Amino acid sequence: MSDIIAVVGAGQMGNGIAHVCAAAGLSVTLIDVSAEALARGKGTIEKNLDRQVKKGTLDAAAKDATLSRIATSTDLGAVAKATFAIEAATENPALKFKIFGDMDRLAPEGAILATNTSSISITEIAAKTKRPGHVIGMHFMNPVPVMQLVEIIRGLATSHETLERTVALAKTVGKTPVEANDFPGFIANRILMPMINEAVYCVMEGVGTPEAVDTVMKLGMNHPMGPLALADLIGLDTCLAILDVLHDGLGDPKYRACPLLRKYVAAGWLGRKSGRGFYEYK
Ligand code: NAD
Repeated sequence: MSDIIAVVGAGQMGNGIAHVCAAAGLSVTLIDVSAEALARGKGTIEKNLDRQVKKGTLDAAAKDATLSRIATSTDLGAVAKATFAIEAATENPALKFKIFGDMDRLAPEGAILATNTSSISITEIAAKTKRPGHVIGMHFMNPVPVMQLVEIIRGLATSHETLERTVALAKTVGKTPVEANDFPGFIANRILMPMINEAVYCVMEGVGTPEAVDTVMKLGMNHPMGPLALADLIGLDTCLAILDVLHDGLGDPKYRACPLLRKYVAAGWLGRKSGRGFYEYK
């Protein structure tokens, strides 16, 4: 039987996860505390599907069918219908711990509670529930409809059955799952964030402008996108939160977030989602 999906958090990741699940024929409820975020999230999914229709990679009927499979709710109680919940709310440990305690009370017995966290301990999130065997990390990449990878992270207590069901869901939505161990930042952000942080230090210390730093990495290292443009895409608040988890969890000063990154976040310069980060966005 197909899973019934709940996605908690309708930001850039949550709407992408809802998109790929619905496109794979699964029924989805997208949940957020903000009605505005839900409207924006559903609007983004529609825009992305429209783009596929224009390109001729999707027909209009499939677009309508995909959209019709996505319900929205501002009530976390909507997880009561789900067999598989994927949390994609803001990268904040206390917030995620609270959401997992609540989802554990509200979701049916046997439902898997997955988190799209970029860095926070799956073991610790799982410990906030009475079903740690059913808690797992399911780390999609941004933008979700485009990127192939899903990093899958087992907590200390995650069961083999939960792992198998999560790997199966990742494949159902057309992704390639790769397993990582539960350490701060897992694989993707353990490697990516120090690079982004170093790029920000280069700007702060005047080694190069953002354009110069990004051009060096694109033309010199063959990266499809420079690290600062990528940081703007990820969200500078999310990058800072991940670096703080790496720094606290691994205790090595090499993960200390660059003060310029902290300053941008304090100013509300969060990257694409706020219209300004290392670059300006109209
Ligand atoms: P975002 O800021 O775009 O969206 C976060 C959403 O969570 C907002 O809509 C907010 O209203 C909602 N939210 C906050 N509290 C909530 C609650 N109690 N219940 C329900 N919704 C709540 O953030 P994002 O970039 O989509 O990141 C979400 C998660 O995905 C984070 O854990 C992040 O680390 C992870 N992630 C992000 C990226 C990326 O590139 N941005 C990539 C992989 C994973």
